[in-house]
Order: sequence, then C-alpha cells, then structure tokens
Amino acid sequence: MRLLIAEDDPMLGSGLRRALQRAGYTVDLATTGEETLAAVRAQNYALVLLDLGLPTVSGLDALKDIRARRDATPVIIVTARDRPEQKVEGLDAGADDYVVKPFDLDELLARIRAQIRRGEKRTSDALSAHGVSVDLAARTVSNEGRTVAVTAKEFKVLAALMRRMGQFVSKEELEGALYDDTAEVESNTIEVAVYGLRRKLGAGLIVTARGLGYTIPKET
Ligand code: CA
Repeated sequence: MRLLIAEDDPMLGSGLRRALQRAGYTVDLATTGEETLAAVRAQNYALVLLDLGLPTVSGLDALKDIRARRDATPVIIVTARDRPEQKVEGLDAGADDYVVKPFDLDELLARIRAQIRRGEKRTSDALSAHGVSVDLAARTVSNEGRTVAVTAKEFKVLAALMRRMGQFVSKEELEGALYDDTAEVESNTIEVAVYGLRRKLGAGLIVTARGLGYTIPKET
C-alpha cells in the first residue's frame, strides 16, 4: 500500500517516512506543493499526509486542487496550525482528518488505518460510462452487462482513465499506474493495453490526443 508524505521539514519528513515504512507501507516523500500535486496525479495513493506550510503551492491550495479534480484520495492534514478556524478551513477544503503537530505516532497510524479503510469502501463502488462498468473491488469489467476478460495491465489503465473521466492522462501517468506490476515498464506497454481495451470495449471508448495522452470522454 503506497502513501505520500508532503512535508518540507527534512527531519520530520524522513522520520515519518521511516516510521511508516516500518509499519509496512510503501512511502513517497514530496517536499513542495508542486511535487505533491505531480505525485498525486501520477500515482494512485491509498492516503496522503499533507503539511499545510509547504513551499511553491501551499498545502491548502494543493488540497483544493486535488478535490477540484474530483480525486477522492484520503488526505490527513498534519500541521502545527492548531486554531479551530484553521481546522475548519482544512476540513472544508476536503481533508478527511486533521492532526496537530507534535502528534503521537501510534495515534497517527491508527488514523491512517481508519482513513484507508474508508477509502477502500469508497472505491469499492463501480465506475461506469458508455456502457462499460469497472468494479474496482472485484477487479472485473463488463460491457453492456456482459463480463469482459481483460489483462491486469488493461484493467489498471482502464481504471486510471475511468477515475479521471473527462481529463487527459499522459502516457507517463498511466505508466505510473502500472508501477507496482513491473519495475521497468516497456515503452509500448500503454499502447498495447489501450489497443486491447479498444478491441474489447469499442474503438470509441478511449480517445487519444497527441501531446496530451488518453481520455475517456464524459457522457453527455
Ligand atoms: Ca512545513
């Protein structure tokens, strides 16, 4: 399970990363708001721990950006800002929980587990459009009600595009979604998966635009 820590304090960031790795998580570390946004776009994190005082783009603006793209990744704000109105602002911007520094590590780990459980429930819902349904929990795909067999890579590419329906997703971002499958992604992996999906689910489902990547258009 992959988590992102967005924290510009090097001591706290690396300490937290070690603690989460010990707890069994795979952990990425972003040290600016821009890095945080790029990481969240490229990866499908089980959870993000977000510092508010980040350089380049503030944690609050990064959170608003994530939610504006209808990305429901669980986010726990971890900050020294402890005034009630700051908590309200963070939660209203779309945070799922709010933890004030200095925090107790065991309590933070329990809060992380709680949010991941909830996140799993949220994504167990099926995504569907254009007659195609993707069940993220059961890892099955159907077209007009009929089950369609897809490969693991095709499934991940389809799920990544469905989650961000109406937005272009670059080839690099899709490769990021396959990261857990193979250490090295072959250069034509995405093309092969998209070809397979078009053949199985209809040529018009996935649209390609040069320089932008791939998208499943929103239903009108
Ligand atoms: Ca900070």
